[in-house]
Amino acid sequence: MELEKVLLRRVGEAIGRFKMIRDGDRVAVALSGGKDSLTLLEALLLLEKRAPIDFTVCAFTIEQGKFLRPIEPLGEYLERRGVPWTYFRDAPSLTLLNDQPEHGCDLCSRYRRRAVYQVARGLGANVIALGHTADDFCEAFLRNAMFTGRLSALPAITHSRDKEFRLIRPLVFVSEDITRAYAESTGVPLTPCGCSQKTGTVRRALRDMFADLEKDHPYLQESMLRAMGNLEPRRLLDPRYLDLGDNRENRPGDTEFPIVTGS
Ligand code: SF4
Repeated sequence: MELEKVLLRRVGEAIGRFKMIRDGDRVAVALSGGKDSLTLLEALLLLEKRAPIDFTVCAFTIEQGKFLRPIEPLGEYLERRGVPWTYFRDAPSLTLLNDQPEHGCDLCSRYRRRAVYQVARGLGANVIALGHTADDFCEAFLRNAMFTGRLSALPAITHSRDKEFRLIRPLVFVSEDITRAYAESTGVPLTPCGCSQKTGTVRRALRDMFADLEKDHPYLQESMLRAMGNLEPRRLLDPRYLDLGDNRENRPGDTEFPIVTGS
């Protein structure tokens, strides 16, 4: 099937380029209940059989009290597919939701991270695969450049602080058009999270702007992803990467022409 070929090619490209998966790895896929992480799981299951290296795949879901539908159909689907799946009700997250229903994402994701490591450890996994897509990378890139003054997106590969886990995002080159179509084609039951319905205004605005531009420039996403892998630091404004004509560190007082910041 064409869609599957495209998916596997793009996931394979990410895994190869960033050395995400290695011989003997046990990869735990963090399933959020949405189309992206479920597509990621399916792709890794196919690659587990076809790749020239040996690795195993398992999956888990952290319950933080935000699912809008029962999770059981997902469990039944995974059981039919023979996928080892752990469903973990995270008690601290559930208490947090009860005590502070309007808590922010920073607190929620901190709780989730702790639970993710705990579950992955219990599963004997050394790799945790996350379902962030090309759309997420582009959105993060724009958001950071436009609102936080940094040129960065998401790490395609990184490690937990103590290096116990390798954290990978193999869908970096996969757009959500693909994950949507692929998840539909498999008939996997999706379990939406309450938060996915109340997307923040900045996020929504960026996604709308992107979708609007893409109507006239269909290769926009591809081009942005290429840009993230093709830096020209000498054409940016970070003095750490510029040849300032001497060997000294650039210090504020070194500027030949003072930078005027106001009148
Ligand atoms: S969007 Fe919702 S589930 Fe996601 S981190 Fe924020 S509060 Fe948590």
